[in-house]
Amino acid sequence: MDNHKKILELRNILHEHNHLYYVKNEPKISDYEFDLMLNELEKLELEYPEFDDPNSPTKRVGSSLSNDFKAITHNFQMYSLENSYSRADLIDWENRIRKKIDSSQISYCCELKLDGVSVSLSYKNGDLFQGLTRGDGVNGDDVTENLKTIKTIPLKIDSKIDFDIRGEVIIEKSDFDKLNEKRVLKGESKYMNPRNTASGSIKLINSREVSQRPLKCYAFQIVGNDLSFRSQIESLKFAEEQGFNILDSYKFCKNLDEVFEFLDYWENKKNSLNFEIDGVVVKVNKLEFQNQLGYTSKFPRWAIAYKFKTEQAISKLLSIDYQVGRTGAITPVANLQPVLLNGTIVKRASLHNSDQIKKIDLYENDFVFIEKGGEIIPKIVSVDKQKRINNSKPVVFTKTCPSCKSILTKVEGEAQHYCLNHKNCHPQILGTIKHFISRKAMNIDGFGTETVDRLLENNMIKNFSDIYYLTKEKICSLERMGEKSAINLIDSIINSKNQPFHKVLYSLGIRYVGETVSKKICKEVRSIDELINLKYDQIILIDEIGEKIAHSLINYFNDEDNIRLINELKLIGLNFESNNQTISSKLDSGKFVISGTFEEIDRNSLKNLIEINGGKLSSSISSKTDFLIKGENVGPSKLKKAQQLGVKIISFSEFINYFKIDLND
Ligand code: AMP
Ligand code: ZN
Repeated sequence: MDNHKKILELRNILHEHNHLYYVKNEPKISDYEFDLMLNELEKLELEYPEFDDPNSPTKRVGSSLSNDFKAITHNFQMYSLENSYSRADLIDWENRIRKKIDSSQISYCCELKLDGVSVSLSYKNGDLFQGLTRGDGVNGDDVTENLKTIKTIPLKIDSKIDFDIRGEVIIEKSDFDKLNEKRVLKGESKYMNPRNTASGSIKLINSREVSQRPLKCYAFQIVGNDLSFRSQIESLKFAEEQGFNILDSYKFCKNLDEVFEFLDYWENKKNSLNFEIDGVVVKVNKLEFQNQLGYTSKFPRWAIAYKFKTEQAISKLLSIDYQVGRTGAITPVANLQPVLLNGTIVKRASLHNSDQIKKIDLYENDFVFIEKGGEIIPKIVSVDKQKRINNSKPVVFTKTCPSCKSILTKVEGEAQHYCLNHKNCHPQILGTIKHFISRKAMNIDGFGTETVDRLLENNMIKNFSDIYYLTKEKICSLERMGEKSAINLIDSIINSKNQPFHKVLYSLGIRYVGETVSKKICKEVRSIDELINLKYDQIILIDEIGEKIAHSLINYFNDEDNIRLINELKLIGLNFESNNQTISSKLDSGKFVISGTFEEIDRNSLKNLIEINGGKLSSSISSKTDFLIKGENVGPSKLKKAQQLGVKIISFSEFINYFKIDLND
């Protein structure tokens, strides 16, 4: 094949897989296969610069040359939106519309209002040609190079019609938390919120750095001269077909009553989303009506934003408790005069750390404003200084641990204070045991906080290994523990011995060694002994393990008590080696995909069952898949794909019978 053709073909394939991976969440090839093709393309492009294309998939990594962000006039003005806060506002708005439109049939398209940064993307002849910030609505900054690094923005589309498409660039909550975790590990301060981080990111001078930020773009509006669709909903569908990422929560509402239902639904559900929204945008659906309504100097008359209230309450600070976490980190929590906020009575609110207390300038007995953010615990956002009582004193952060009275330490550059008396400080011991038995760790259920507390009080457990010496009789001797619960608890303790090495390592609660880090380590080392024997220089060679984690591991293993504990746990039979012990080869390396939920078994246990019987698991269907095990609510795209590729589709019971799997293994 000639080289130009080869380059074009690779670009097409990579664009397609990029879309499958980032927009549809349905990867069809492995990351490894993707990287191989990308490398091949990079090589060819280097060799044949005459076939350069600014929209090649290789351009996603960004350049480290400085961006200069020229101001450019938008093809079509980027308007703002009128705000509304009540149903009455919306009824007013509809009445104004009715004066201009002679039809009883005004229907709406409701969309969530993402709280990020809006951008306008111009496509010419199927290519992303430029991307601008909103700026003042007339002129925006040219951030094309930065936007190209965002994988949910297509660089090429099938449609050859020219248009601008508007979208919101955001960082999802889970990505934001991960980003902050990484920063903490590197000793950097946390970012405040996803919105500001997203807007800061798209204005970074260095595009390569932008490509490292977990930015996503959701499209919500198309403007152009030769558009073929007749409604907002059709335009969203068109955008989706062209490979844009859209929120599928949009809804056609045939009247305001249906709009109100949509508002109520999302007002309640908004905190369960993985991204931040600050309201809903209601748009007149028909473009014909939109054109008749037109614009004011600032807003379209055919759309309005309904803003959710961030309810605030004011209350009096009564006292501050200091809570001790599992790692000894101290969190100040304010006790407040009870007050109603968003329908619940609030008595406590988090103050995060001593820096936050200084920042809001908190005094004893102050009146404070509280808000409910995405988190369950409300936070204190500011102080009403007008109401401050004469002669009151600034809050002084505690110097000693509220539990064991040790002097606290604060490391330069970190926000948190710590109690370092890890071995004798009760809440830390309680915390480490609760961590050890938690679902993602050893998964011992039937152990409420109260039970652990009582076992500790009665000296029945002092550390993890004691858990394995508990008997039914000992447990039953605790108040409020029946025989049946005791038997279940013992079963669950015994089962926990099957947890794989990486979960055992995570359960130990070594500082900074979370779930992901444990997995990474267990990919590299095969046993705890191998890990214990590694030197600092060797540990930091492990993928994504930095100085902080390495120091923490070294410290942990330098402590005789910890080594003694590990040896005891080994004797008890916990897995301190990675080789996934297969107990049969009944599945003969067959490749399995599971989809849906199962009445008979939970997904993790099913995965485990496949692995210990010698099967291989993958998350997506490919021509290499042998079996799809389907449960309730199997993913329709997985099912379709399996049918197309002739993959055998079986139920859980067929799986058990066919392979003669023993469920007691
Ligand atoms: P405002 O910034 O309050 O004037 O609101 C207008 C902004 O809302 C737009 O510039 C977009 O950035 C943002 N927005 C978020 N989601 C949508 C949506 N579905 N439709 C229109 N605008 C949206
Ligand atoms: Zn303490």
